[in-house]
Amino acid sequence: MVSIPAQYPSVLIIGSGVFGLATAWELSKNPEFKDTEITLIDRQPFPAADSSSIDTSRIIRPDYASLSYTRLASKAQLLWRTTFAPEHYHETGLAVTASGPEQSYVTDSLRNVQFHGTDRVQTLQSAAEIQRVCGLEANKPTDDTLSPGGGSTGYVNWNSGWADAEGAMCWLRREVEKLNRVRFITGTVKRLNINHSTNTVSGVILSDDSTLTASLTILAAGAWSPSLLDLRGICKATGQALVYLPLSASEQAKVANNPTILNLSTGLFIITPSRKSLKVARHGHGYTNPTTIPHPEAAPGSNQTITISLPATHLTTHTQDPLPLEAQRQCRDLLRSVYPSLSSPSRPWSKTRICWYTDTRNGDFLIDHHPKYKGLFLATGGAGHAFKFLPVIGECVVESILGRMPEDFRGKWEFPRQRVPEEEWAGDGSRGGPEGVVLAEEYERQRKGRL
Ligand SMILES: Cc1cc2nc3c(=O)[nH]c(=O)nc-3n(C[C@H](O)[C@H](O)[C@H](O)COP(=O)(O)OP(=O)(O)OC[C@H]3O[C@@H](n4cnc5c(N)ncnc54)[C@H](O)[C@@H]3O)c2cc1C
Repeated sequence: MVSIPAQYPSVLIIGSGVFGLATAWELSKNPEFKDTEITLIDRQPFPAADSSSIDTSRIIRPDYASLSYTRLASKAQLLWRTTFAPEHYHETGLAVTASGPEQSYVTDSLRNVQFHGTDRVQTLQSAAEIQRVCGLEANKPTDDTLSPGGGSTGYVNWNSGWADAEGAMCWLRREVEKLNRVRFITGTVKRLNINHSTNTVSGVILSDDSTLTASLTILAAGAWSPSLLDLRGICKATGQALVYLPLSASEQAKVANNPTILNLSTGLFIITPSRKSLKVARHGHGYTNPTTIPHPEAAPGSNQTITISLPATHLTTHTQDPLPLEAQRQCRDLLRSVYPSLSSPSRPWSKTRICWYTDTRNGDFLIDHHPKYKGLFLATGGAGHAFKFLPVIGECVVESILGRMPEDFRGKWEFPRQRVPEEEWAGDGSRGGPEGVVLAEEYERQRKGRL
């Protein structure tokens, strides 16, 4: 019998984000793939500024309502602390709070980190306690009957932290380069090269109509993945709000050691600042950007189309649409509630951004062989939480290629047997903020002054 790596003398990875780059790293190190030719293609020169993996910071936490992710994140975190880009990892804690039904995620997450037994946690019974323990500024005397931006109850895990996302990705890229196994290409994949009579993918067709051939193609194009394969009812791009507030040296020093605060009821969070920039963001249901495109799996000559949500970024649209005002206002309100001295409306952001999640119905990743097309593997569906797994996700992907998906994730990461209409997706219980907002409609509402 031919071994699985021998069936794949050449592997082509589409996308150089967390999933693609970590997979390239693992393939380069794994002796079972020592004779495999590895190619990694991205539409942008590295680091791709509008990808989900490139930013000032990402939260690194084992705080999950699902014990499987708690365990895997704890494994990743051991590496962040020691051998994996440790200079880019900072352990300043994470306060997970809520003031409404999202409390159940907080309770489950607390149970998991306590059960797992590796974490220093401190429960927070009131808004006043959150304020005191997290070093938030005293606003008015906090009234626990209100629903303060920092949340009403929760806990802080002092063993959680954050990473400089761009710094860590650049560190990993250098590690991959040192192994000298991967051919890096900058180019845009237009289509998968599908043979419809054999249901086989044999590589890709690029935007200049040239082709790249591979015995295994790995789709790791993040929020753009649904533009290359019909993932309706499985994955969708949702745009998430980010603002960056420049800080003076003394402002930075004042808050530099405070934990990140994540309020699951609003989805809003403030991450510990770095390089004199404070990031406020919303881990929410996100904006969608419905776009009609040629059906990615249709045979040549077909004029079949599909409508899916796709990222619109400053690199893909000619005009940079700013973050909708409703999101900017929510971020400002959170600041007013927790750091009033930084919240003056006249104080400009240095930057705003919409960053695109690849959402899945329940927050599980999509790491599996395609059920129909031979030669196609998927490593995507980051669902707004994959960054922390950068040190370990490549191994998970490669083991899954070899038919050895980690036990904890069987039944979670496989290609779903059924497509579920997006309005019926349950999510993972960690999202707050407005639901069902279409980005273009939000701009239109804003233009008409209906805010
Ligand atoms: C605002 C925000 C906050 C987040 N916060 C956290 C956090 O705190 N903690 C955490 O763990 N995770 C967090 N995440 C999630 C995490 O960052 C993502 O899950 C992860 O980065 C996804 O990686 P990816 O490889 O799937 O996608 P990406 O990083 O987007 O990579 C996909 C790549 O594919 C390329 N590509 C796309 N289409 C093509 C094409 N046609 N041809 C060639 N190349 C193509 C793109 O250029 C891109 O480089 C956050 C995400 C966002 C957006």
